Amino acid sequence: MSATRCPCLSGLTYDDCCGRLHTGSAVAQTAEQLMRSRYSAFAVGDTAYLVATWHASTRPVSLDLDPDQRWYRLDVRATREGGPFDTSGVVEFEAFHRSPAGAGSQHEVSRFSREDGLWFYLDGVRGQ
Ligand SMILES: [Zn+2]
Repeated sequence: MSATRCPCLSGLTYDDCCGRLHTGSAVAQTAEQLMRSRYSAFAVGDTAYLVATWHASTRPVSLDLDPDQRWYRLDVRATREGGPFDTSGVVEFEAFHRSPAGAGSQHEVSRFSREDGLWFYLDGVRGQ
């Protein structure tokens, strides 16, 4: 149990937000929800969740997270489709990180695909 604030900054606790998705007690209903939960998985170091929510066609063979990199802020800039009745969606976001080497951010336009009721991360391109 954890009453800490969810890393995706939804305003909910981790347990009531992305934590439910990480433990498998709920599934993402929208592409944005999946994107937020994947960001939070980076923040809490849940590699298994990241791999499980990666589309089989683009999933990396292995995934190593940098333990020195702290993800501290997520801005969802825009969404397109990705709703409960869509089979694809696009989420543009900027995620901010810092490490002993310095601070930075990742601005990405991600594509998501829904199969059998489950959203998957497909791929992304760098945002403008
Ligand atoms: Zn969350």
